[in-house]
Amino acid sequence: MDNEINSFPQVLTIAGTDSGGGAGIMADLKTFQARHVFGTAVVVAVTAQNTLGVQNSFMLPKAMIDDQFAALADDLHIRACKTGMLGDAQHVRWVVANLKKYNWGPVIVDPVMVAKGGAVLLDPDAIQTVQQQLLPLATLITPNLPEAEQLTNQKITTQKNIQQAAHQLQELGAQNVLIKGGHHLAQQVQDYVLLADGSDFWLEAPRVDTNRTHGTGDTLSACIVAELAQGHDLTTAIRCGKQYVTAAIKHTIQVGHGHGPLNHWA
Ligand code: PLP
Repeated sequence: MDNEINSFPQVLTIAGTDSGGGAGIMADLKTFQARHVFGTAVVVAVTAQNTLGVQNSFMLPKAMIDDQFAALADDLHIRACKTGMLGDAQHVRWVVANLKKYNWGPVIVDPVMVAKGGAVLLDPDAIQTVQQQLLPLATLITPNLPEAEQLTNQKITTQKNIQQAAHQLQELGAQNVLIKGGHHLAQQVQDYVLLADGSDFWLEAPRVDTNRTHGTGDTLSACIVAELAQGHDLTTAIRCGKQYVTAAIKHTIQVGHGHGPLNHWA
């Protein structure tokens, strides 16, 4: 008798590794696995990292980035992808060139800039390249408040500011925008979603008092990629991502001595 053959949608993360297993590509692959899609990865950066912080990082050369994309293109069928830590302007440009070349369905851009521990994951000089070259490819962009401030060049202190920033990100070329409000200290975490057709909504969740939130943004965008690859619409995918992250923060696990990782079995 033939073995049963299961086929899972194939998805891709283009980002940096986290040797500590909590963020970056490691968080993405754990999320993909939990959400029943087959995860692949183009490694752009390698970090020496644990829950206490980033100790070192190394950016991969262009040929290695291009070859990873080509290897996937030769053999797999990627339905949706996301970008995470891209490091600097030239790596943003190399990734953009490959995204344009292969055109693999929805692109979720998580414009990772600074880790919660303070490590710089995107050279500030690269922000303009992200605005001009990466945003126009984004099906959805998922900045947190500090990232939205950098990308729109304004201080964000009110709900109105968040809405204005989302419109600005659309003007820069992102089709849909999710601004994550978790960096506000309010009791209720509010995220704002502005869709391509101009409709919008707020997502609310109670704040969970914990420092075990390492990799939260990666996990949210990875879950959205997984849901889109399975054919769900963007609003459903975003709501699902939010629920997944909230549960993964709530049911914490004990790993390391610093900013602990999320629980992907929650
Ligand atoms: N390391 C890598 C490689 C990442 O991609 C990220 C976030 O995207 C982080 C670290 C930071 O994670 P956090 O700010 O959630 O601690």
